[in-house]
Amino acid sequence: MSAPMDLHQMGVAELAAALADKKVSAVETARHLLARAKQHAALGAYLAFNEEATLAQAQAADARLASGERTPLLGVPLAHKDIFVTQDFPTTAGSKMLAGYQSPFDATVVANLAKAGAVALGKLNCDEFAMGSGNDNSAYSPVHNPWDTARVPGGSSGGSAAAVAARLVPAATGTDTGGSIRQPASFTGITGIKPTYGRCSRYGMVAFASSLDQAGPMARSAADCATLLSVMAGPDIDRDSTSLDHPAEDYTRGLGQPREGATAVMPLKGLRIGLPKEFFGEGCAPDVLAAVRAALAEYEKLGATLVDISLPRTELSIPVYYIIAPAEASSNLSRFDGVKFGHRAAQYDDLTDMYRKSRSEGFGPEVQRRIMIGTYVLSHGYYDAYYLKAQQIRRLIAQDFQQAFTQCDVIAGPVAPTVAWKIGEKSDDPVANYLADIYTLSTSLAGLPGMSVPAGFGAASMPVGLQLVGNYFKEGELLQTAHAFQQATDWHLKTPEGY
Ligand code: GLN
Repeated sequence: MSAPMDLHQMGVAELAAALADKKVSAVETARHLLARAKQHAALGAYLAFNEEATLAQAQAADARLASGERTPLLGVPLAHKDIFVTQDFPTTAGSKMLAGYQSPFDATVVANLAKAGAVALGKLNCDEFAMGSGNDNSAYSPVHNPWDTARVPGGSSGGSAAAVAARLVPAATGTDTGGSIRQPASFTGITGIKPTYGRCSRYGMVAFASSLDQAGPMARSAADCATLLSVMAGPDIDRDSTSLDHPAEDYTRGLGQPREGATAVMPLKGLRIGLPKEFFGEGCAPDVLAAVRAALAEYEKLGATLVDISLPRTELSIPVYYIIAPAEASSNLSRFDGVKFGHRAAQYDDLTDMYRKSRSEGFGPEVQRRIMIGTYVLSHGYYDAYYLKAQQIRRLIAQDFQQAFTQCDVIAGPVAPTVAWKIGEKSDDPVANYLADIYTLSTSLAGLPGMSVPAGFGAASMPVGLQLVGNYFKEGELLQTAHAFQQATDWHLKTPEGY
């Protein structure tokens, strides 16, 4: 067997077929992609490799393939956001605090993918503790967008997005607390889905904001995301109390099937797509809106009808999220004290000084900012005014979506108000970063599934994603809706020059 030259151009489904047909082995595939990852190290996408462990996983997959096993991920290489703990690789969560940390166990999502025969190539860069929108908050290095290396790939799953977009790996895991799968997918022209909160286990995911954190796949196509999500999702009640007791589903089953009453030419006939007026206003750049509107026109050709809706509290999602997420983060990150977990300062006077120095050295500026905001909003006298109020508005935001879903099946709009910005452009302005999350936060606060689908290009020829949001447990419908679009368009197949 000799490795075809374009091995890295193959998506998950093509690679799985080539592996099953013995056109290439899992070991050859892994070697090829490891070499390619090193060749493109300047992108900053990867934080860690363990060639020995990767090749051992690939050998095991080859043995299963040789015995005739044929499953959708057997021997397929992928990589994990460095927020999932892994036995075979160090885990840093993009932070100096966890430098050199070696987990004794695998996160459930990682274990599920490994059981299905996927081969882990390494760990992918991310914003420190998943806090950020440009992957410029990583303590190790920024990640560069392969479409223009002077620009951010989005965040916090920026390493995952850049690696998939640059064809370093066919698929990757990501996490989304307020948009970190959808926004980087949009900025790099790939497909990503954040499922319903609780659909994927959070066990072994380094916690940022526990009531929002959710894992999901990032790949080139909706079909590949469906394959991954089918394996990643499922109940894990014993180890994650917020895991939903809802059986795993095969999300690939509905793909390519016309909706009930629809036809092959109009596969989406009957689908009502809601357009929230708050997502199409002045806050969104015209180039992004143009791409989104063109994608929606394509949806109409596929038989869908567009319905005007309103999500009246969209604007409030920014202050609400930036109270709740830091509040939860301040509590979750208290474990990194240099005793229980994390970096310990080399020199200190007493216990308090040790905590202070360890945490000041270990955490970067954005993480420190959030710990301070979070501690403040949870403190006596401010709890009711900020945290409790935010929780109440969060409930109203979720109700707005339920009201909207009486008028439509799926909600669509932009993922972010602009295309990817230049590295450094927003680094000194946290509020500018927070504002850019406007279209993704409300979905997270409501716990709803959402995805980003490549929809064309905007300013500076940078990719633009279309956001699709579904009701609880409607991941299958979202993926089906995205797949129908990808059958009719080729935005998701575009490759940045030089990759
Ligand atoms: N950009 C948002 C934040 O900085 C979302 C991050 C995420 O989803 N992990 O918190």
